[in-house]
Amino acid sequence: MKKIGIMGGTFDPIHYGHLVTAEIARHSFGLERVIFIPAGIPPHKDNSAVADYLHRFNMLKIAIESNSYFELSDIEIERQGPSYTFDTVSCLKEIWPATEFYFISGADAVLEILTWHRASDLLEICFFIAATRPGFSLENLKSVLKALSAEYIDKILLLEVPALAISSSDIRHRVGLGLPIKYLLPEKVERYIFDNSLYQKG
Ligand code: ATP
Ligand code: MG
Repeated sequence: MKKIGIMGGTFDPIHYGHLVTAEIARHSFGLERVIFIPAGIPPHKDNSAVADYLHRFNMLKIAIESNSYFELSDIEIERQGPSYTFDTVSCLKEIWPATEFYFISGADAVLEILTWHRASDLLEICFFIAATRPGFSLENLKSVLKALSAEYIDKILLLEVPALAISSSDIRHRVGLGLPIKYLLPEKVERYIFDNSLYQKG
């Protein structure tokens, strides 16, 4: 069976935490490729505070161009209403029925899994790769997982990645304060942010 990774998120903006996690997940689980899917209307975020879809999409495009295993999908742009991972994965399953999908995310995102829209349905149609992220321990995640039934636990795979304490919110905050963001994200993405005056206050 073909194995494809899905990296979903707001990517506001994409940074090295996302890229390292996707690459290590790809290699560790023998994924043929990883598809990055920026969220159209993120269900968990205050939408008015999120940069335009096109900016987030363009930054992703620039960030992944040097990795031939990485792809970008605009599948979530068209959909009306909030973007739910379940709808996205179902849609991909319809297009590629003979493929196993691996949804890659940080441990923080998996900890929220039980609150997600149709979480158990989602675990029936794809695997989850839960990557370490500073501030979110795998031990903590393991205890949450204990509450799940065995069939679902088997669908959640834990992955140690070198801890990068980088977050999009911190990058946005830094830009607003005029603090450096160099080396937190690809240089071309940094330039895109300044050329388009993103995340500046006032
Ligand atoms: P924000 O601070 O705005 O929430 P973020 O940095 O968490 O942004 P998202 O777009 O919310 O980025 O995250 C997309 C996915 O990438 C999530 O599954 C998240 O857990 C994961 N992720 C983000 N940063 C890291 C990191 N430094 N290490 C591992 N995983 C990460
Ligand atoms: Mg986040």
